[in-house]
Amino acid sequence: MLENNLLNSIETIINNTGAFVYVVDLENYEVLYANEKCEREFGDIVGKICYKTLNSCSVCSVAEDTIPLSCPVNTIFERENKNSINKQNYFFNDCIVSWKDNKKVKVQVGIDITREKQLEEKILKLTHYDVLTNLANRVLLKESVELSMQKSSKTSFYNALLFINLDNFKIVNGKSGHNIGDKLLIKAANRIKKSIQKNDIISRFGGDEFVVLAKTSEKNRNIVIKKLENISQKILKSLNNLYIIDNQEFSVSASIGIKLFNDDNIPVDELILHADNAMRNAKENGRNTFCFFDPKLQQIMEYKIKLSDSLKKAIKDNCISLHYQTQIFSDKKEEIIGVEALIRWIHPTKGLISPADFIPIAEESGLIVPLGEWILCESIKQLKIWKKDKIKKHWRISINVSSKQLEQDNFTSVIKNIIKKNKINPNMLRLELTESLLIQNTSKVLDRLYELKDMGLSLSIDDFGTGYSSLSYLKKLPIDELKIDQSFIRDLTIDTNDEIITQTIISIGKKFGLDVIAEGVETQEQYEKLLLMGCQYFQGYLFSKPVSIEHL
Ligand code: C2E
Ligand code: CA
Ligand code: CA
Repeated sequence: MLENNLLNSIETIINNTGAFVYVVDLENYEVLYANEKCEREFGDIVGKICYKTLNSCSVCSVAEDTIPLSCPVNTIFERENKNSINKQNYFFNDCIVSWKDNKKVKVQVGIDITREKQLEEKILKLTHYDVLTNLANRVLLKESVELSMQKSSKTSFYNALLFINLDNFKIVNGKSGHNIGDKLLIKAANRIKKSIQKNDIISRFGGDEFVVLAKTSEKNRNIVIKKLENISQKILKSLNNLYIIDNQEFSVSASIGIKLFNDDNIPVDELILHADNAMRNAKENGRNTFCFFDPKLQQIMEYKIKLSDSLKKAIKDNCISLHYQTQIFSDKKEEIIGVEALIRWIHPTKGLISPADFIPIAEESGLIVPLGEWILCESIKQLKIWKKDKIKKHWRISINVSSKQLEQDNFTSVIKNIIKKNKINPNMLRLELTESLLIQNTSKVLDRLYELKDMGLSLSIDDFGTGYSSLSYLKKLPIDELKIDQSFIRDLTIDTNDEIITQTIISIGKKFGLDVIAEGVETQEQYEKLLLMGCQYFQGYLFSKPVSIEHL
């Protein structure tokens, strides 16, 4: 009686574990016992013979009416389910015990892990797919590229990465909001998908960047290039079509960088970087176009990065200094009225590096902002020192300011603070701005220029005549000086075109009441001609080269 009670209790426990439990005769595979869960799932299986599934695999698929037996320990069974499209997964374990009459039997225990498996798949999807577009994400892309490289190493077939970046997506996103932006990205993703082959892989790499892994069965590089050109054109064309989202029209173009590879032993990240850099070249080439990766351009890019790194170090190590070139006012006699501050970088091994080489790189990398601030500080400190100098206290310093600096929201407050700290007269500071910067003529830039003028600074347009000058923009700007670009001065005495341009600039200056300064004046003839033409301010080697403060 007691034994029966105990057995009943044990059976209740077995039925409540949520697992399959059944006992199989080891001699003839007959099921000797099955718990309630087994009966619900497989029907009445007691007395039936088990199907032998002895394959040594981690996941074994079994048909619905199959009762698995004797599987290797820790096997996961995947079982079709007639009530659902989802498969059910069981984790099977077994042990051999003594049954009635000391008969050896196997106890099979199958634990339902379907939900865990589903969760695992969900996580796998989240870690491998982009939630917005449902495309592969960069993790899956890299895995796929790795795989295709392995294949290519055997077949030598070319594959390629197409790095696609939408050209003006940020404007759409900024103007119309992220909701519209998201919808546009989904549409763009579908257009790219339709432009490529079925077995190519498209991924969303981030933001408005997509990367396509285009596969070929081709060893001939030229044929592959032709093919990729066609695909790229197709993608560009489809992305270029008008987008209609929430009854609004949008147009977006794209730039594509292409990196070809077959059995190259290049890390995947580097392949992607090459495609990315090629895309940047496509952008530089005017956008809405594609560019193949070019090792020479890559070299230039790497040189720029290196230079930018050593410039950072140079700023820290004080290898940067300012030189000053005098500016002359000439009426009846010549008089120095100020200097232009020009930056110098003395590299420990390369020697003097021209600002024409490193300023554009500093602008690209954003380094120009701290560098520009340093230049302002140095110049203003110099003005403070000159306050005690009988002659130089009347000198003004002209500083070159790049557009990136002027765009900084705190640009004026930074200058204000340095001026205040050094207690200098703001009239002694002139900022040289390039024409291209001023042509943008955004209200933000304009407001900033007026603010600077109100602070007492004066403004000059550098390299005047090289941009697309229009008289209407001159009228709106609060400027004090036009600086005739040195390219017009160089051949002034021999080239009538340069003469006409120079004369025109001087006349414009006079009409608008602006100072006109000629830069790059190297010879007496140029100087005299300029005087005759009515120019009154001069800068150039004829008067002085840019020199360090000790030589000024
Ligand atoms: P820029 O502002 O047009 O400066 C005039 C350039 O002409 C200077 O070159 C100067 O040394 C040179 N120059 C002056 N007189 C003569 C002459 O008679 N003949 C010839 N052939 N050249 C003359 P530099 O110092 O090499 O500067 C080149 C450019 O780098 C500058 O052109 C400016 O755009 C930029 N730059 C220089 N210093 C700074 C700076 O502190 N900040 C910024 N943002 N840019 C700077
Ligand atoms: Ca200048
Ligand atoms: Ca200039």
